[in-house]
Amino acid sequence: MSARQRAVLTNAGSGRRVQKTSDDSQNKSSVARSSTRAPTPSILPNHLVILFLVSLAALAGLALRLHWSLPQPIQTADGNPNAFNSRDARRHLEDIVGLGTRHVGSEANEVHAVALLRKKVEEIRRLASRQVEIELSVQQVSGSFGLDFPDSMTQLYRNVTNVAVRFSKRGSSPRHAVLVNAHYDSAVGSPAASDDAVSCGTMLEILRALASDPQPFLADHSIVFLFNGAEETVLQASHGFITQHPWANEVRVFLNLEAAGAGGKEIVFQTGPGHPWLARMYASVVPHPFASVIAQEVFQSGAIPSDTDFRIFRDFGGVPGIDMAYFVNGYVYHTAYDTADRIPDGSIQRAGENVMSMVKALALSPLLEDPGADRHGKVVFFDVFGLFSVVYPERLAVIFNSLVLVGCAVSLCSGISLKPQQLGKIAV
Ligand SMILES: [Zn+2]
Repeated sequence: MSARQRAVLTNAGSGRRVQKTSDDSQNKSSVARSSTRAPTPSILPNHLVILFLVSLAALAGLALRLHWSLPQPIQTADGNPNAFNSRDARRHLEDIVGLGTRHVGSEANEVHAVALLRKKVEEIRRLASRQVEIELSVQQVSGSFGLDFPDSMTQLYRNVTNVAVRFSKRGSSPRHAVLVNAHYDSAVGSPAASDDAVSCGTMLEILRALASDPQPFLADHSIVFLFNGAEETVLQASHGFITQHPWANEVRVFLNLEAAGAGGKEIVFQTGPGHPWLARMYASVVPHPFASVIAQEVFQSGAIPSDTDFRIFRDFGGVPGIDMAYFVNGYVYHTAYDTADRIPDGSIQRAGENVMSMVKALALSPLLEDPGADRHGKVVFFDVFGLFSVVYPERLAVIFNSLVLVGCAVSLCSGISLKPQQLGKIAV
C-alpha cells in the first residue's frame, strides 16, 4: 500500500473529511495544496447524488405515464350489462352534439335537445328491469337570484328547461336522493362536446347500467339525474331546479359533472362544504381516483374566472357535493374546437366508472339520511399517481405543516450557525 493509499478517509455525519494523513513529504504537500483551495460545500457523496437524480427521473417518468394512462374502454354489448359501456355513452354524446350549437333559447336547445333526451330516457325505461322505477319530469322554470360571480349581479331567467329523471326501487317511497347534474346547453358557437354533452351521455349510460336486467341496482335512496338546459347563461337552470322542483327537497348530496377542456382524466376539484365523509367515500370506492385539495384552494380563491352549478346547489340548496371536471386541452373550452373526436373513449370510461361507483355508494349509504357529526369538518385530499387517494382531517394537516415549519427553522438555524471553516471541513 502506498503512502497516498494510507490516507484514511472517514465518514463523519453529513460528509467525508480527511482525518489522518501519512507523514511522507509528498502527501504533506498534497494536503498543503488542497488546504489552499476554496472549500466546496457538497454534503452528499457523488454517487448518492447520482442515485437520487436517477430515482427522481424514474419517478417523474412513472408519474407521467400513470397520469396519461386511461382505462380500457368497454365497447361490446356482450359481457356484463350492468357495467358502464363507453360505446353507448359516446353514441349519446354524438347524438346531442349532432343537434348543433345549443345555446339557451335556441330551438336546438329548448326543443330538439329536450325531445332527444326524453326519447333516450324512454328507450332506457322500456328495457329496464321491472324492479326499478324511472320517472321523467320536464321542468320549465322562471326565477331570479343574486350572484357574487364574477362580480355582484342579479340573474333573471324565464322558461329555462330542465329534464330530470328519478331512478328508484319500485314500490319504495324514497325520501332522500343523490343528485347527478350535467348541462346540455352550449356556449355560443361551440358544439360543447366536452362541456357538457359527454357528461349527459355518461349519465344516460349510468342510468341504463343501473336499470338493466338481470341485476338492477336496488337501494333505499333514489338517484336524480338532472340534465339542465341553462348553465352557460350563468347557472340559471340549476337554480330553477334546486329552488322550485318538487324533487329538490329530497336531495341530500350532489355530484356535478363539468368540463373546462376535453379528454384526459376528470379531476375532483371541490368537495363539501363540510361533510368530509364525501371525500373519504370517493377515496374508498372510485376505481380511478384523481383529486386535489390544492385545486379546491385555487378554485375557491376566485383566481380562476369560472364557476359551476356546485355554487348554486351549495348556496341556494344548502346541499354538499363533489365537483369534478375534465380540464386538459383547455384551449377548446367554449370554442368551436370542443368536438366529440377530441374525447378518447378511455376518458369516458374512467369518468363513467368513477361516477357510477360514487352514485351507488351514496345511494346505499346511511350517511345520506343522517351524516351526524360527519357533517362538520374539513379534509385534505389528494391522489397518489392515480393509484389511491389520501384523505385526512384539517387538524392533522395543521400538525404536519407545523412540524415541517419547525423542521425548516431548525435546519436553517443550524446552517447559519456553521462557520465557514466548518463548511470547509465537510467538503469532499
Ligand atoms: Zn359547463
